[in-house]
Amino acid sequence: MSMGTLEKLAVLADGAKYDVSCASSGVNKHNRGGIGNSKSFGICHTWSADGRCVSLLKILLTNYCIYNCNYCVNRNQNDIPRASFTPREVADLTIQFYRRNYIEGLFLSSGIERSPNHTMERIYQVLDILRHEYHFYGYIHVKVIPGADPALVNKTGLLADRMSINIEQPTEQSLKLLAPQKTLPVLFAPMNQIHHQMTQNASERKIFRHVQKFVPAGQSTQMIVGASKDSDLSIIKATETLYNRFQLKRVYYSAYVPVNEGPNLPALSTSPPLLREHRLYQADWLLRFYSFKADEIVNEQSPFLDTDFDPKISWALRNMQLFPLEINQASYEELLRIPGVGVTSAQRIIRQRRLGNISYNHLKKMGVVLKRAKYFITCQGCYYGGIPAESALVRQALTPVAKPVQLCLF
Ligand code: SF4
Repeated sequence: MSMGTLEKLAVLADGAKYDVSCASSGVNKHNRGGIGNSKSFGICHTWSADGRCVSLLKILLTNYCIYNCNYCVNRNQNDIPRASFTPREVADLTIQFYRRNYIEGLFLSSGIERSPNHTMERIYQVLDILRHEYHFYGYIHVKVIPGADPALVNKTGLLADRMSINIEQPTEQSLKLLAPQKTLPVLFAPMNQIHHQMTQNASERKIFRHVQKFVPAGQSTQMIVGASKDSDLSIIKATETLYNRFQLKRVYYSAYVPVNEGPNLPALSTSPPLLREHRLYQADWLLRFYSFKADEIVNEQSPFLDTDFDPKISWALRNMQLFPLEINQASYEELLRIPGVGVTSAQRIIRQRRLGNISYNHLKKMGVVLKRAKYFITCQGCYYGGIPAESALVRQALTPVAKPVQLCLF
């Protein structure tokens, strides 16, 4: 019996929830006579370059897949309900959701049905209908199918806002183990193509005003954390390479939710490593905005991020010989290295210093988190940490106090 559109939507929105490039699906509240509907399948959110929150219809074109990636719920060997949309069904759904004001854009991913080219062509057809038939100008993020013809990637990129190729695993070895049909060169090829075409497109647009934009919101990727035994060092080094080589807009990290059994996978009872995922996002922030290098954040001696502290505090505790820094003399780059000082507060300090010396009381108003920063700075020559600026003592002072737990009385 063929499935109706709503049944397909339930299956294909559920299949898309493991992709974290946009991340608020899964709300399950029921409307009992009130207004609003949080249960509409596959609605999630992303943020635009100007900080607006954009709601997206997040679905798979199909969850049929010829590949057998060990960590994936949609892998070929899993016995799960399967469904495929036609390109027109996806385009019509997007427009109907848009007209009902549920969404402002589309996030379209897909399993690989028949072949990479077949699937990529159908993704292109969705965009073609939306852009040329419905004249839909909303945000569209699509997956690029690794191994698809570069010409297909090119024509899809002229209609999409963002494209992404999920590398999922940071090393060739873990790909071989968990996704044997994929290799890093095959995943890197479309990233490279998109990067080059974006660069070329930007220079052409400087000369010819009416050149069509190519992937104007850039490209991104996702890595699964905890499915393989890869260390944080491998993940952060891979991230650094991706940012440097392909100028990716974002690398997303997804704590692995065990969905399959296998000799190379964590047990089904394993909890998703959410704290590790959080620390990786903090490390990613250091790479992108604080000019840290991967091997400053983690190294061969300690290849995993400290779960007790954010990576910037961990780095500072390993490098206490560089502190305390005098707030009135430190360079902008040095200020960024102080725990508790962010990009905005560092900029404010530099601006304020042009007008005169900064006092300790000024710092709080500038957004500095003094309960962390006080161990790493002096202000007008005075140190306010209250304990010697030594790694072991500062570590102890910064360690969060464990919350008291009610003991069981029975
Ligand atoms: S190619 Fe994608 S959809 Fe198919 S099994 Fe691998 S991760 Fe899952």
